[in-house]
Amino acid sequence: MLISELKPLEEILGYLEGETNIFVLGCKGCAEVCETGGEAQVIQMREDLEKNGKKVVGSTVLDFLCDRALIKLRLKPHEDEIKASDSVLVMTCGVGIQAAAASLGKLTHPACNTLSVGGAQGEWPGSERCGQCGNCLLDMTGGICPITMCTKSLVNGPCGGTKNGMCEVEPDVRECGWHLIYERLKELGRLDKMKEIQPLKAYSKMQPPKNLRSTVMWALEQREKEQ
Ligand code: SF4
Ligand code: SF4
Repeated sequence: MLISELKPLEEILGYLEGETNIFVLGCKGCAEVCETGGEAQVIQMREDLEKNGKKVVGSTVLDFLCDRALIKLRLKPHEDEIKASDSVLVMTCGVGIQAAAASLGKLTHPACNTLSVGGAQGEWPGSERCGQCGNCLLDMTGGICPITMCTKSLVNGPCGGTKNGMCEVEPDVRECGWHLIYERLKELGRLDKMKEIQPLKAYSKMQPPKNLRSTVMWALEQREKEQ
């Protein structure tokens, strides 16, 4: 299961600065179990946003938001609401947020941080979508993960080696993650986001909380230490 936590409301409101009409998207998969993006959290988020002067133009909770192939189809009934929104706030793991961003052609904001993918990568095929960094940056990248899509996990733009849209590390096979981010933001008319400077990444947050590290192996090791 992909484990996520809700970002603080102030951080979310910061993402939404200058925007009024918001569509809220939740997930009935892992996010519902984690209580970060189920029906109850989406209702609460609607209230919180409205209390803070936003207009929620629509919301829904989909089964397995990480299933990219089905997102568009399932959101068909909400097409007009999404079109009328300034952005979509996505309440789920990093894989689900990326799947929504890739499908909607709308600016998406993450409402959650992903703490652990628990050995799974969601329903969207591709083995390395989310690096469980614990402080999701998808807001500034148009919904493309810089931790997994950039070979060096750079968070403040490309290195000097990118050429013709390809990564210098594997120029024959791998697109430059920051080239993809640039193209996505350009498409969304939000290249200004490339200018935001990210603080040094707190890599300590990549260590899952103790209660999530209780794999069988980890538990056995702990018991050995206690004996
Ligand atoms: S920035 Fe990337 S690695 Fe970090 S939580 Fe978001 S999707 Fe996952
Ligand atoms: S070329 Fe692009 S993907 Fe490769 S390391 Fe540099 S910035 Fe990252």
